[in-house]
Order: sequence, then structure tokens, then C-alpha cells
Amino acid sequence: MTYDVIVVGIGGMGSAAAWQLARRGQRVLGLERFDIPHAMGSSHGVTRIIRLPYYEDPAYVPLLHRAYELWREAEAATGAELLVTTGSIDAGPEDDALFQGALASARLHDLPHEVLTGAAVNERFPGYRLPAGLRAVFQPQGGLVASERAIVAHVGAAQALGADIRARERVLGWDADGDGVRVTTDKAEYRAGRLVLTAGAWAGELAPALAPLAVPERQVLAWLQPRRPAWFGPDRFPVFNLMVEEGRYYGLPVYEVPGFKFGRYHHQNETGAPDTLLREPDVADEALLRPFGERYFPDGSGPTMALRACMFTNTPDEHFILDHHPDNPRVVLASPCSGHGYKFCSVIGEILADLATDDGTTRHEIGFLRLARGALNGLAERP
Ligand SMILES: Cc1cc2nc3c(=O)[nH]c(=O)nc-3n(C[C@H](O)[C@H](O)[C@H](O)COP(=O)(O)OP(=O)(O)OC[C@H]3O[C@@H](n4cnc5c(N)ncnc54)[C@H](O)[C@@H]3O)c2cc1C
Repeated sequence: MTYDVIVVGIGGMGSAAAWQLARRGQRVLGLERFDIPHAMGSSHGVTRIIRLPYYEDPAYVPLLHRAYELWREAEAATGAELLVTTGSIDAGPEDDALFQGALASARLHDLPHEVLTGAAVNERFPGYRLPAGLRAVFQPQGGLVASERAIVAHVGAAQALGADIRARERVLGWDADGDGVRVTTDKAEYRAGRLVLTAGAWAGELAPALAPLAVPERQVLAWLQPRRPAWFGPDRFPVFNLMVEEGRYYGLPVYEVPGFKFGRYHHQNETGAPDTLLREPDVADEALLRPFGERYFPDGSGPTMALRACMFTNTPDEHFILDHHPDNPRVVLASPCSGHGYKFCSVIGEILADLATDDGTTRHEIGFLRLARGALNGLAERP
């Protein structure tokens, strides 16, 4: 069975890559070890934040502009609601990197934005109860992406263009030679000209070069029932990133699950192999999260509606890895993106399709996401 490109891992990134490849007329095979979608990886939990004034690095902003366009194209192609605008709040102490980084990105890229005090945020968005002196960047284009629905939409759009997508088929290994790649699964063997590895938290298993650079970490999300539901819908409640004395937290309005949703970055700092990290949330997870809701969103913090565990996969500098395999130019790698990658899936799908077709170049500025960057300290070099 021969294809132009095989995509391994049909989660957030892989489903987008499959669609972008199919759009270019490539014969695509997508292989997924679990279901489509499923709750064992990094993309479940209904929603993800999308925001433009990127405090992590302003170099992401041009990619974000394209990500927005492609999310809208995917909506037009499938009829599914994938991106809902709510506005975004990036807030923290005035001298903190979160607020300063968001402000610098907004200014550098001329994004519409307002700088507000915590008190002004609380007045405008009554679900919030921030410390009055906190500083916030409000950006009106922020919002949420319906992450599991987007996987289904991308897969459906790829299939409509002829892509062959197979779930419950685990890739056991691959090898590449001058003519192409061979992929072995627990059911069959396939050949293709190129290979795209979008295996999420399992990236290091299929590309050992990534193992020291992509470390899975357990996260837990909480959904709490709002006491004032009108204040916690997408029309009144912007998505947020907050730096407070308890740590760095993020949250979203009520959407599908009957609770407003939030989590703490690096939750309990639990790293490990993806198949061994605990998937079932417990009382310690809830006890860590609820006090944050009760303090900063008291009208949102009624009974717990849901808890879910999920995986970040962190690089040393918390930036993504998008590149050709260091030993095999026919193989393209995507790391699962250090806990902030979902919003980029649409544009990463396009970049992976660029890297896996024609001469393997892309018009997107991804130098800061390549394996050879200095911050990776040679960790990715060949053994
Ligand atoms: C709790 C939490 C909150 C987050 N919040 C945000 C947010 O608000 N905004 C944001 O932008 N990002 C956020 N992220 C990050 C974002 O969700 C991830 O960057 C993104 O989901 C990663 O997508 P992926 O395709 O790499 O991984 P996945 O969607 O997990 O896909 C990888 C796929 O590869 C498959 N696979 C692995 N090995 C094999 C194999 N051998 N054979 C076949 N298939 C295989 C897996 O089963 C899986 O389906 C969050 C992440 C978490 C965990």
C-alpha cells in the first residue's frame, strides 16, 4: 500500500496536516493508535485558548494571524463552529513577563488592545475578581477553539478529498531509504514518499532525537458551575492567562460542559512516560485547583462539574519543534508544543505540509522553532 505522505498521530496537529496535504492533491494515509478523537493525549477537554498578543515570543504573532485564517477556512469547508471570539485577558503584576510580554507583542504587531487595571477588568467583565492593582492586556480577537470538534472537522475534510484515515492502528516503527519510507503498524506495512510524525506526547518513542527535548507532563483541568451563569458565557467572559501569587493559570468561558474551565500551568510538576501518567483526576487535583477559582472567580466557583487529566509535552525552552528529522529529510517532525500549541494546529498543519512536499521549504518564519536553535544546546544533535 503506497501513499505520497503518511501522517502518524491523528490528534490536533496530525489531523490538520492530513487536511492540508489532501488539499494539495497528496495521497495521504493517517494512522492513529486510539480513537478519533480520544481522551488519552493532549487535545481533549472540549476547548483551547487562542490569543494574539503572544507573551511567550512576538515571533509567534505572524503564525497566529495565519492560524486564524485557516481556522475560518476549516469552518467554511466543514460547516462546524471551530473558533469563538471572546476577547483575551493577559494579566499579572506590572513587572511580570506575562503582562509585559503580551504588551510588547501587541505593540510590536500593532494589535488592537487596551491596557486595564484589575479593577477595570472586574468592572467590565463581572465574572472576574482580580486584585485591583493587577495590570491586564485586553485583546478583542482572543477566543476559544473547539479542539476535539476541530480534529473531527479536519479529518472529515481530509477524507472528503480522498485521505485514508485509520484509527486503532498503532505505528510500531519506521525506516527511510533513498526511495521513501516504510511504516510498520500492529496491522500492516505501508510505503510512502514522506512521513510526518505528529505523535504528541509519544514523539520521543517514534523519533528518539526528540526524547530528551519533548518531556510529557500531566495537567488537570477543572470545570466549576457558575453561580451567575450570565457572567461566564463566551459573550461576557474573555479567555485569560493570569499570573497571581498561586502561580500561572489559564481559563475559558462555559462551552458545552456546564462549567467555566481553568487550569494551572505545570499543575503538580508531574513528568513521566505518556503511558504511565495518571489519567484519572483525584481529590488532590481538585484541592489544588478550586481555591484559585474561589478567590479570583467567586461567582463562577459553584460545585465541580468536571475534572480531566491531559498531557503537556515540554521542550527545554517551551517553544515548539517543527523541522525535518536530523537524519532523514523525508521525515518531518512536530513536537506537541509545550502546552500552548493547539491554537496553532491549523497553521502547523500548513507548515508540515510545506515541509513534506516539493522542496520542503516553507514561507513561514519558523527559524526559532527549528531543531538547530541555540536554546536546545545541541541536545538534538546526532549521537
Ligand atoms: C490541559 C491542557 C490545556 C491546554 N490548553 C491550551 C490552550 O488553551 N491553548 C493552546 O493553544 N494549547 C493548549 N494546550 C496545548 C495543546 O492542547 C497541545 O499543544 C496540542 O493538543 C498538541 O496536539 P498534538 O497533535 O501534538 O497531540 P495529540 O492531539 O495528543 O495527538 C497526538 C496523537 O498521536 C497519536 N499517536 C501517538 N503515538 C502513536 C503511534 N505509535 N501510532 C499511532 N498514533 C500515535 C496519539 O494517540 C494522539 O492521538 C493545552 C494542553 C493541555 C494538556
